[in-house]
Order: sequence, then structure tokens, then C-alpha cells
Amino acid sequence: MRMVMRSRFTRLGRLGEVSTVAKCSKCGSKAVIKIPYARMNLCEMHFIEYFEGRVATTVKKYDLLKEGESVLVAVSGGKDSVALLSALTAVAPELRLKVMPLHIHLGLGEYSDESLRVTKEVSRKLGVNTFILSLEEVVGATIPELSAKSSRPPCAVCGLVKRYVLNAAAIEWGVDAVATGHHIDDLAPYALKNILLGDMGAALKLAPVTTGEEGYLARRVRPLYEVTERECLIYAIIKGLPFVKTLCPNVFLGGMDALIRRFLYELDLRHPGVKLRFMRSLARMATRYGVSQARTQAELTRCKYCGLPSRSDVCGFCRLTERVLGSPAGPMVREALKDVRASSH
Ligand code: SF4
Ligand code: ZN
Ligand code: ZN
Repeated sequence: MRMVMRSRFTRLGRLGEVSTVAKCSKCGSKAVIKIPYARMNLCEMHFIEYFEGRVATTVKKYDLLKEGESVLVAVSGGKDSVALLSALTAVAPELRLKVMPLHIHLGLGEYSDESLRVTKEVSRKLGVNTFILSLEEVVGATIPELSAKSSRPPCAVCGLVKRYVLNAAAIEWGVDAVATGHHIDDLAPYALKNILLGDMGAALKLAPVTTGEEGYLARRVRPLYEVTERECLIYAIIKGLPFVKTLCPNVFLGGMDALIRRFLYELDLRHPGVKLRFMRSLARMATRYGVSQARTQAELTRCKYCGLPSRSDVCGFCRLTERVLGSPAGPMVREALKDVRASSH
């Protein structure tokens, strides 16, 4: 038993970049993670408290969700969304939130089957009821099929489908906001890339919240805005939560994004907290200039088929499915979401 405990501590310690003799800054017991920007080492218990506290503080500080509101949580089964679901479920009573998880089975072969299995297991562990929507069952095609038939890259199609379904679910179910598991290591490289390419508008859209419009466009919130990828991973391990360990077969780890990610990682090692300060200043700018949502809303109209947001008379999802499948699938998705909700009662 002692051997098992020691090896778990050593593994966590390595992930947490803390020495084997380091002590928790709060209670003096064995530390499992170093938080460089806060100049703290924390034990398992105090790290869980820290992580969940940080999520609760982010929700309050950026006014992501108000007391009594409901939030749809996008759960893919990856460590980040699993950490998000767990932390939001933990702070929900204190913040008086109703958490509604949704998993979309995208039809990406074994990867999607494993994601669904893990999502169900996590939901059982956390005692939450996760809604499941299968793309293939609802529209009759998977992401690889939609991608092949439209000659568009799988990730572009996947992003479009996920954005559409999450917004449609929030509107159909009358949920106040959609929460995604984007953390600082997802957002900071993307923000910096947009700034380097001269697209400040796109960078500002990476703020912690983008406001919505009743019955049409759901507010989008990022409760993990101030936590890192490493913290999400360690939180999920300490809490004993299962998560998908393999990568999606379509994930691309090269190119400019990878270089920027590497640069920010090195920079943050030498100057702890620099990524956090960068994203906080971006959030302040987005609030000050009101760029992200005001501009988005002015650009949007309603899709003539499904009634959801669009930049022209047909939204991207209905256009794609009309071209590939012969008819726009937006209305079908909205109907299916009503059934998914009803069947869970
Ligand atoms: Fe979808 Fe691409 Fe992510 Fe795979 S890597 S889940 S296809 S966006
Ligand atoms: Zn402690
Ligand atoms: Zn549409």
C-alpha cells in the first residue's frame, strides 16, 4: 500500500513540477503541485480547494453566471471538460447554479465511442445526468462523412457542428449560458496568434464571456479562463475522474499554433504568470471596448431554415447539411434536442 501511495505521489509530483520533499504552503503536508505564479506548493486537498475556488472566483469576477441561472456544460470526455464539469458541479450549490452537461457523439470511430463511455462514467461518478446527442442518429452522417462529402477539413466541420448543436441545445432548453472547457493554454496561444496576424477583433472574442440574445444566441462562458492545462490534468487525477487519454485522430499538433504554444510555455517558465496577465489584460480590453459581442450581433441575422444565428439567410450548419445531405438539418437537430430533453425526465 505504501509503495502504491509513494508511486502515485511521485507521478503527481512530476506532473506538478514539485520536488519530492516539498511541503504544502497551507498545511505542511506533502505537496503534489507547484503553482509558480502564486508562489505556492499545495497538497491534494488544498489543490482541489484552490482549483474549485479559482473556477468560482472566475465565474463571479467576470460575471459569467448569476445566482439561479442554468448552464449547459459541453463535455467531450477529455481532461479539460471533465475537470470543468466536476468543478462546476462542486461550486454549483454555493453559486446557486443548475449544471446541465451535454455530450455530442461525433462519429469519430473508436475515439468517439471511448469519449461516450468515459462521459457516462464521469457522470455516474459525479451524480449528474448528462444529455447525449448522436450526430449520426440525428442527421444521418458523422463528422468524417460530412467532411469527405463537403471537401472541408474535419476540424472545420467539427467546430461548426459543435458550435451549432451547443447553441441550439441552450436555446431549445431555455438554458442561460453554454460553458466550454477552454483553459489559458488553449486561449493564450490563439489570442497571441490573432494579434500577430493583425486580427485584434478575433483575439478579443477570446474573452471569458460573450453575451447572447434571448431565444436566439446563447451566452458563452469560459470558467477555466484562469487555470492551466497542467492544473486541469492534476485536478482530474486527484479527483479520480476518468478521462479520454488518446487524442482525436484528426488533431494537428504542428504549424504556427504549436510554435506559439511552445514560446508561451518557455516564457511562462521564466516569467511565471505572464500568460495569466496577458489574458487578464485581453479580458479588460474586451470589456472596455465591448468589441466581441456588439460586433458579432450586428453582423448576424436569422437562418431562414432553423431560425438560429447566421451571417447570411442560411446558417453555416444548414448550408453544409443541405449541400451534403440534400436538405438542411438545423430544424431536425432542434427537434431531436427536444426529444433528448424529454426522454431524460
Ligand atoms: Fe473535432 Fe478536430 Fe477536435 Fe477531432 S481534433 S474533436 S475533429 S475539432
Ligand atoms: Zn495542504
Ligand atoms: Zn440554419
